[in-house]
Amino acid sequence: MASVRVAVRVRPLIKREKEVSAKVIIHMEGSTTSIDCNKKHLSKGTPGTGLKDRGRQSFSYDFSYDSTDVGSPNFVPQEKVFKDLGCDVLEAAFDGYNACVFAYGQTGSGKSHTMMGSPGDFGLIPRICEGLFCQISEKSQGDVASFRTEVSYLEIYNEHVQDLLTTKKSPENGSGLKVREHPKDGPYVEDLSKHLVQNYKDIEKLLHAGKAKRTTSSTGMNDVSSRSHAIFTINFTQARFDAELPCEMVSKIHLVDLAGSERADATCATGARLKEGANINKSLVTLGIVISALGGDRGGSHKGKRKKQLFIPYRDSVLTWLLKDSLGGNSKTIMIATLSPADVNYSETLSTLHYANRAKNIFNKPTVNEDSSVTVIRKLQEEIVRLKRLVEKNNQALLSPQDLSKTLKVEEKLHKNEVKVLELTREWTNKWGETQNILKEETVALRKQGIGVVMDSKLPHLIGIDDDLLSTGTILYHLKEGRTLVGRDEASSNPDIVVHGAGLLEEHCVFENRDGVVTLIPQTGALCSVNRLETTQPCQLTQGAVIQLGRGTIFRFNHPKEAAHLREQRKCCAVGYISNKEKTHLQRNASSTSSKLSL
Ligand code: ADP
Ligand code: MG
Repeated sequence: MASVRVAVRVRPLIKREKEVSAKVIIHMEGSTTSIDCNKKHLSKGTPGTGLKDRGRQSFSYDFSYDSTDVGSPNFVPQEKVFKDLGCDVLEAAFDGYNACVFAYGQTGSGKSHTMMGSPGDFGLIPRICEGLFCQISEKSQGDVASFRTEVSYLEIYNEHVQDLLTTKKSPENGSGLKVREHPKDGPYVEDLSKHLVQNYKDIEKLLHAGKAKRTTSSTGMNDVSSRSHAIFTINFTQARFDAELPCEMVSKIHLVDLAGSERADATCATGARLKEGANINKSLVTLGIVISALGGDRGGSHKGKRKKQLFIPYRDSVLTWLLKDSLGGNSKTIMIATLSPADVNYSETLSTLHYANRAKNIFNKPTVNEDSSVTVIRKLQEEIVRLKRLVEKNNQALLSPQDLSKTLKVEEKLHKNEVKVLELTREWTNKWGETQNILKEETVALRKQGIGVVMDSKLPHLIGIDDDLLSTGTILYHLKEGRTLVGRDEASSNPDIVVHGAGLLEEHCVFENRDGVVTLIPQTGALCSVNRLETTQPCQLTQGAVIQLGRGTIFRFNHPKEAAHLREQRKCCAVGYISNKEKTHLQRNASSTSSKLSL
């Protein structure tokens, strides 16, 4: 169990506040934040009790960050926020836990400043990403561990989800992407693009692209502040051998910049804007209800009484549904509440302080996310150790024939387990090795085009086209000189490419590469088609061919050299050297051999 950690941060007075000679009413000392209640508000009756003599109300949090005055010795810069909170997120990620940071506060209170920052004064998100790759490069020295990092960036606007990292247009009806729930992995956004990143620069470009796409609209409160919630997610996988045992952990990190928490009426919103405000409130109101329900459940339970299992309405809003794990679930979560220091924002600031106070009562249950096959291997290994001890013990004792037969059975089981561990470890190593090969392969140059990642390979290759909605990886198989056997895992001949789909034979087909000419050779009885034409005979492949094996396993064949040659010819055809018929053929086939991911 770990409670949500709560930090409060107050920004400097901004121009508009100075213009109306606003007074600073927020004071911080240690981890305590106090707010002055001026006479006007006291006479109206301030919500909440516990006012101190001088009309000051105090709250205690995990951290209270005073960033009102750059010149003050107490001034808290971005670096300090990162050291306290960002470093914890990184530690959680490398330990295999999920983590979440969300910034809450009224528009203009400093959420985006704290999360994203500005050029030269970066906030948590860029610093966490930079820290991640710093540690990755330290930890990958000597090849002890390998890593895979994928990011996505979405926006919830009017309860609709929009992908901030794709050039694809959202559905015409404006309903946005759908949120679904995976039985094991929990809620996810269908069709959200995921981007494989190799270094901080890759992420920086994506953040930039995402920021440009964020929907902003002006309100009476703050011209540029966004009225949407933005969630930047990092999926981080690490793998290594730990005392000969495979170890693979996945961590999901959500970094959330919420929309302004003010009520619609405080922003002079009217008409369509009001509706938008109401919808944005739906997510925030639900977030409030979820936070209260989670906090209240524990706060209200007394010793001796059985805790009541309260219903938590995660599904009532897109935001809370997507952040379900981060709120009362499997995650180490941090909330940062941002405040304006000015008396003119008294009510909103007080409401933020109360909100943050409630969040302190949320308890999460973070667990290490271990790969399931690794868990099986680890459990088998534990069993092996136990059985070995048993066998040793029995070997030392004088046994009756009955006990002897029992021991033999144990030995047999021990042997079976050992074989199984070896097998599973080999499978795991192959699976992980395949991913790493794609990342490392020298012939694969990763470069950026727009906001997609383009993989260029010089060897003829197959690109796996996966119809599994939940699969986000793209696999590229090189077809080296000679024969490449495709078949099922069970085949005794150890296929070079292992496939799992329906209608596939143990040994399904062979791709033969002879001097750059690639031929598909179906094995007897195997269902194979090339460009939708079924074939049982060897078939020479051409650039761009779509190959279907069995009932649903699809690959695209790329032949970079042939494509380059075709492109050259296309140039010639542009100046009139070849016939129209040839032109059409060339245009159809000379499409790029690059494979663009996540677009
Ligand atoms: P929000 O995202 O909550 O609407 P912003 O992050 O855009 O608010 O902040 C509003 C303004 O206040 C911006 O001009 C920002 O640069 C400034 N600001 C916010 N927090 C700080 C801070 N800690 N230090 C200096 N300036 C800040
Ligand atoms: Mg903002």
